[in-house]
Amino acid sequence: MTIQPKSLSSCAQAPVLKERGQHEVFCGLTAIIWLHRKMPDSFFLVIGSRTCAHLLQSAAGVMIFAEPRFGTAILEETDLAGMADAQQEIDREVERLLSRRTDIRRLFLVGSCPSEVIKLDLSKAAERLNAIHAPQTQVFNFSGSGIETTFTQGEDACLSTLADGLPQDNAHQLIIAGALPDVVQDQMLDLLSAIGLSDVKLLPQRTAQDNIGIGPNTHVTFVQPFLGDTHDTVLRRGAKPIYAPFPFGELGTTAWLKAVAGRFGIDPAVVDRVTEAPRARARKAVAAMREDLAGKRVFLMPDSQLEIPLARFLSRECGAELIEVGTPFLHRSLTEPDLSEIAPGPVIAEGQDVEKQLDRVRAARPDLTVCGLGLANPLEAEGLATKWAIELVFSPIHFYEQAGDLAGLFARPLRRRALLKVAAE
Ligand code: SF4
Repeated sequence: MTIQPKSLSSCAQAPVLKERGQHEVFCGLTAIIWLHRKMPDSFFLVIGSRTCAHLLQSAAGVMIFAEPRFGTAILEETDLAGMADAQQEIDREVERLLSRRTDIRRLFLVGSCPSEVIKLDLSKAAERLNAIHAPQTQVFNFSGSGIETTFTQGEDACLSTLADGLPQDNAHQLIIAGALPDVVQDQMLDLLSAIGLSDVKLLPQRTAQDNIGIGPNTHVTFVQPFLGDTHDTVLRRGAKPIYAPFPFGELGTTAWLKAVAGRFGIDPAVVDRVTEAPRARARKAVAAMREDLAGKRVFLMPDSQLEIPLARFLSRECGAELIEVGTPFLHRSLTEPDLSEIAPGPVIAEGQDVEKQLDRVRAARPDLTVCGLGLANPLEAEGLATKWAIELVFSPIHFYEQAGDLAGLFARPLRRRALLKVAAE
């Protein structure tokens, strides 16, 4: 375990415990579940195995009444022998799909981790199919492989591909990268409009018609901390990033808004003025949960890549004590503003060696452990309260109006455990 020097002023300067070992991750294909809702004119065609098809069906629920917007082209073991056949099979499947579904404007070929799929060059397939089907249907590809990745990286890979394909545009503009639930996105756009920014572009674009471009006068900010590849792609395209704490809780949201406002020459006093009421609501809502969370010792295992900003929210706004903050990957540029707001003390860990981490959890006996699904049940059985990290990705948690719900997601397992204790006594 790393001991941090006492002179540090925040976790931004803290040494990072890097671990490489056995890890528990959830597959990147999962991101399709929320991405297809954000892009109603798209279709996600997973090139994968029966396991991939089962994962998608069980994660999404079988869509009986709706024409689904994702599917799996299953590659059998026998296809290993003939890669050329596999490419032709993809062409045939895409042809069949697009002739039946003329509403599809963006088709994503999504790679997976079976070895026979890894050997397939899906970028070539996308290029070939684009030549046939664009501009009616644009064809993209990205990998949702579950090897060495986390489930949020599916979104990162998808957005990075979209950013890479954006046309050049020299307009002075703002792009916000990261998929948010519609209701939260509307709140964000209302806040930005209230401070004077009404022409805001979104990545992912809702439809192919929202044809945004990118260039040296494009300013990009992020609402999800797991967009490392997307960040690198937009920088490569010449855009200028806006770094800020992520918009979780009152403080995070205000800091994020002020960073965006600052880039566009808007006085921070304007942000203070227009956010007075929502800030007060967020403060009140979090205060109602603070009683359960203040002083509670929290251990965050690496899972969703939301860990660092959420740790900042838990410690700064809810009064929790952080023991360890693990993240699968530490993207310095994106997470530094949040790390700077976390007081020295917790171990900051990157990567995973699950057995060693579990040993540390057992030694520390935290009040709450935030972890993946596979680790939560065993830890609960050992008497430890847990929070499923994946729930934090599927729940609306950004911006002021969700601050109380976010605190509630952490407070609930503690309340439940307290009730169980009382019942057992
Ligand atoms: S991509 Fe890999 S980890 Fe994900 S469902 Fe398919 S086989 Fe499983």
